[in-house]
Order: sequence, then structure tokens, then C-alpha cells
Amino acid sequence: MPEKDIEAFEVVLRQRWPSFSSEKVQRYIGKFYERQRIERKIVARVEGNHGTYTVSIRVNGQTTLSACSCYKGKHGYCHHCAALAATFLKDPGSFAEIVPKKLEEVQELSELPDYLQHTTIDELIGQLQAKGMTQKKFAEIIGMNTRHLSAVKSSERGNRRFNELGAIKLACLWVLEHFDQFQE
Ligand SMILES: [Zn+2]
Repeated sequence: MPEKDIEAFEVVLRQRWPSFSSEKVQRYIGKFYERQRIERKIVARVEGNHGTYTVSIRVNGQTTLSACSCYKGKHGYCHHCAALAATFLKDPGSFAEIVPKKLEEVQELSELPDYLQHTTIDELIGQLQAKGMTQKKFAEIIGMNTRHLSAVKSSERGNRRFNELGAIKLACLWVLEHFDQFQE
């Protein structure tokens, strides 16, 4: 990541979390592992009181979108998100830079998990919507309850995963790939 990009990232994080003095936050600073940075998003895991949590912060311009898989972290207001920000500010170099694969770069089945992991269902359904297919229609096609599809989407946003997440993404890809032949 170019130095000036890291600086821009830091400015936004400091605005969002002006202080890390809370004892609850302090306890987790530096305790994160599997630290990754994917474009303007940082993600890492940490051992919490009730298991392992996946914590992420995306910087969008001047705002942040954070999420944690702990019971109160869905919208990013927990101490794990603050601690992740502090951990990055302390040592940005400890976050491995990941360059996500583009679909056309996936040449072998073994590369597919990596693509699926870094492409959200939000993005894939967004591509379907850009072609004019609604989420409801897609749910119908794959025989899934619309509300359940929404729940899967929203839990991915909160860093929680339903088991069928990968399968839904693959179904999305298939429909995207064959979209033109469905046009009347
Ligand atoms: Zn949390």
C-alpha cells in the first residue's frame, strides 16, 4: 500500500475512533491474527469471550463500515472493531496485503475458494441487479426463500457465515454467466 494511502486510512480511523483508552478495547489491541488488508478493507480474527470473532473495517472515502461477528458487533459498535483500528494504527505493516482474484483470473478449481471468499454476495447480486434481475427473482430461480437470502446477505456483512453462502455465490455466478441466453 503506498505510504500516502496508509496515511489517508489512518486519518479516517482516528476520526472514527478518537480514543482507545477503554480497558475493554485495550485488552484486544495487538491480539489479532490472520491480519489482512484487501484494498481499503482490513480484516483479522481475535479470540473473544465467546469464541473467535472475525472483525473488519472498510474505509469508504471519509467514512468507515465496520463489522464484527460477536453478538453486538453486527454494525461495528463493539470494542473489537475499535481494537482492530488501534492494532492497524500501531502496526499497519503487520497486515498482509491481499490482491483478490478477478473471476477471469480463476484458472483452476483450487483458486475458486479464494475468489468466493473475497467476493461478497452483495457484489454478485448487485451485478445481477445491474443486468435487470431482482433479488426476489434470483431467489425464486434457486428455490430459496427471499427472506432467507436477505438473512444470508446481511450475516455476511456482519462477518457471520451461513453454510450455504458459497453455494449461493456459485448459483449467482452461473446465472450471471448464462444471463444473455435467458433474455426473451
Ligand atoms: Zn465484536
